[in-house]
Amino acid sequence: MNPPTSWVRRDAAVVWHGFTQMSSYETNFPVIVERGEGHELIDVDGNRYLDAISSLWVNTMGHRVPELDAALREQLDRVAHTTMLGNGNRVVIELAEALAVVVPVDQPHFLFAADGAAAVEQALKIAFQHWVNLGVKGRRQYLALGNAYHGDTVGSLALGAGGFGTDLFDALRFPVLRTPGYDDPGWLETAIRSIESHAHELAAVVIEPLVQGAAGMLTALPDDLRTLGRACRDLGVLLICDEVATGFGRTGSLFASEQCGLRPDLLCLGKGITAGYLPMSATVAAGHVFASFLGPDLSEKTFYHGHSYGGNALAAAVALRHLALFEEKGVLDNVALRSAQLRSELSGRVQTLSGVSAIRQCGLMAGVQLAPPTGATWGRSVCAAAVRRGVLLRPLGEVVTIVPPLTVTSEEVDRIVAVLVASIDEVRAG
Ligand SMILES: *Cc1c(COP(=O)(O)O)cnc(C)c1O
Repeated sequence: MNPPTSWVRRDAAVVWHGFTQMSSYETNFPVIVERGEGHELIDVDGNRYLDAISSLWVNTMGHRVPELDAALREQLDRVAHTTMLGNGNRVVIELAEALAVVVPVDQPHFLFAADGAAAVEQALKIAFQHWVNLGVKGRRQYLALGNAYHGDTVGSLALGAGGFGTDLFDALRFPVLRTPGYDDPGWLETAIRSIESHAHELAAVVIEPLVQGAAGMLTALPDDLRTLGRACRDLGVLLICDEVATGFGRTGSLFASEQCGLRPDLLCLGKGITAGYLPMSATVAAGHVFASFLGPDLSEKTFYHGHSYGGNALAAAVALRHLALFEEKGVLDNVALRSAQLRSELSGRVQTLSGVSAIRQCGLMAGVQLAPPTGATWGRSVCAAAVRRGVLLRPLGEVVTIVPPLTVTSEEVDRIVAVLVASIDEVRAG
């Protein structure tokens, strides 16, 4: 391999990369992107990579989508950003109106922010204050699942189950009721029993519907989630669905909650909301939650929370156009076809490889669980081998995640699987 290029050296000299050990950053052959074209990224040396992780799950329809580029340019000629605190913006209203028709939330109201973690943080605080506003005492606990990941701010970190080297922050985490994650066949029964016995002290139950993505694509059955949702409703506990990863077509429907018949009280959106173009997230509150915050002007019922860039107009313009493209391009039909193809190719060509112990998939979110010999780690080297073959993959520990654009083609699915097979073979051969 070549020595680090000058761009890598310049990068390492001034940029601090998230979830990355910077002392070894340069020697791990990072891809330095210069531009994108459809489903491909092009680095500073002109090498092309198929973006098979959708830029960490945010991209939905590829890069430089003409319709989205145009929407962004048109909004630039109006205004880039104005505050949502006490005032409004036309394109944000239009976006909220368009989202209101499709989100699985009753009488939805949208509080915009910029990151998924902030959307979760807002949901936590809204759930807490909701009970205070209603005059109900003692509702200050949250129930979250094992393996959960909800973001990296302190509040969202508290909901998360830990791992990824974040355990040292345990002292900062507030305690939550933790019941097993989707890898435990008894997760539903345990969760429901816990909700039953703690209902009077629970502000909310927080779940990632259908897929615990960051945990390595652990999947749950829609019927189990339906049962959980019904239990929350019957026991009077708020349900927060974190669809930051699963929202916007990833699991085959626009929102995973739809497949489970869930109508959450609070819904968190992020990642794909702007097709991967600009930072935007939203906490969607059901009408009855929103209503508990209504009271006299300047009263303590107000939600005193809001981010500077919440409801960014450029992001809203892209998000609004993006939503229309789902219909115009028949995107969900493509997700159905390509996810079925990916499933059959993974089971036919990858599941059978020695060194692979499990495959998990929901829509166009897939995880290939590697099973290296004791003491070895393969995740990093398998993905590095794939990158050398022009397919950008990234592991979560020993799970290779495949999260292609929703508009991925049949040939591209073939190529991703072929490169994965060759990369696993290469690493296994040593
Ligand atoms: C990525 C993710 C988050 C955090 O979103 P950020 O934009 O990275 O802050 C929260 N929840 C889930 C389920 C996610 O996948």
